[in-house]
Amino acid sequence: MKRTLIAEAAESAGQQVKINGWVNGCRDHGGVIFMDIRDRSGIIQVVCPKKLPQVELIRPEWVLEVVGQVNKRPENMVNDKIDTGQVEIKAESVTVLSAAETPPFDLKEEGYEINEEIRLRYRYLDLRRPRLQRNLTRRHQVFNLARQFLSQEGFREVDTPILARSTPEGARDFVVPSRSYPGSFYALPQSPQQYKQMLMVGGLERYFQIARCFRDEDFRADRQAEFTQLDIEMSFIEQEDILSLIENLFRQIVEQVFPEKRIQQFPFPRLFYDDVMQKYQSDRPDLRTSSDPNELAFAFVIDFPMFEQQTERKGWAPVHHPFTRPQTEDIDLLKKDPGKVKAFQYDLVLNGSEVGGGSLRTYRPEMLQAVFEVLGHKEQEIKDNFGHLLEAFQYGVPPHGGIAVGLDRFLAMVLNEKNIREVIPFPKTEAGRELMTGAPAPITDDQMREIKLEFQKDQ
Ligand code: ASP
Repeated sequence: MKRTLIAEAAESAGQQVKINGWVNGCRDHGGVIFMDIRDRSGIIQVVCPKKLPQVELIRPEWVLEVVGQVNKRPENMVNDKIDTGQVEIKAESVTVLSAAETPPFDLKEEGYEINEEIRLRYRYLDLRRPRLQRNLTRRHQVFNLARQFLSQEGFREVDTPILARSTPEGARDFVVPSRSYPGSFYALPQSPQQYKQMLMVGGLERYFQIARCFRDEDFRADRQAEFTQLDIEMSFIEQEDILSLIENLFRQIVEQVFPEKRIQQFPFPRLFYDDVMQKYQSDRPDLRTSSDPNELAFAFVIDFPMFEQQTERKGWAPVHHPFTRPQTEDIDLLKKDPGKVKAFQYDLVLNGSEVGGGSLRTYRPEMLQAVFEVLGHKEQEIKDNFGHLLEAFQYGVPPHGGIAVGLDRFLAMVLNEKNIREVIPFPKTEAGRELMTGAPAPITDDQMREIKLEFQKDQ
């Protein structure tokens, strides 16, 4: 007999079905036991005569197979609280597929009040919670819709390396020692920035990826060491082409995945960086005009400055990254007054948070070289770090630009979750630990020897 999903069983009154799932709860009513069985599609009540073997032993979270007849409940027994409340299953046989220890915490409620470290230690149980099931479902729907939308717009999804070369994108790299080349290291990508630009040189024209990015930054509540971006790059476009693509994509995502939400203004307002800074003293203003939790105030902030003063040492740093293109009329200022140069850089802002950012790229090698010089890179450094890009740009490079949108942050906002860990399947704690498997963890002496590394205790 084939398995029927619980949601479908609810539509099968009068038929015999086989369901599989977890025991959500059970109540002893004299001669019968009422059990609520849960699978990925829903919850249904099962009535088990006590004479069936083993049924009296069954406890919450045990995994069962139940065969029985779906019956309409009498009017006065209908349960409006669950979608299947019109029916129940009268069990004919119950098979225990696996027993379960009593879970260390409640799985049915929202779970916000439970110690988060315990929830993360037992993440596989925490994921059974309806709220997290919903969050992961919505996450999937957003990924799926982005893939469909962009595919229809002629984009190709291309995956790029995780073992990559250290790139200067502003944050600290996670590094991976190479066993074959002792003393050399891969770096986990802070973003696929250089690869996606190489794909433009490679003639792909329209690239996207749901990309994992890694940044070894100081811990912050709304940051994770690894996070997921919708990463996009396009050739032969103006800034406005990217902005309108993104606003149309996000309109579809909101309409189809979050129909309860309302976009405050469409097209999203385009606001100049200078104006926004003057008016709100922030480059990510909260533009909501009502306090409704379903209001989404998107905006693009455009025309960012190209450079800012470094905080740690003297000199200039890029506001976005060095590949960003200075605005055409400001090119003369590059050498004279870098602080005044504006860039083709834009951020996507939502309800006071930055959820994305990108830029048109400098594609003329000599201009890229000039930018590197403003940033104080020495000739050899430029060759070592960016030689491959400068070389590639000598073989026919299309004008191009792109954007990356932080999907974890976006999801947390639209799901009204205060914490991005609530929308990430296996997040790390604020202190960077993954408590279920216990990462990071020491490796064996043999592993250390193999990569020819020695551990140096704090001096
Ligand atoms: N790579 C950039 C980032 O991760 C986004 C971009 O410029 O496309 O912020």
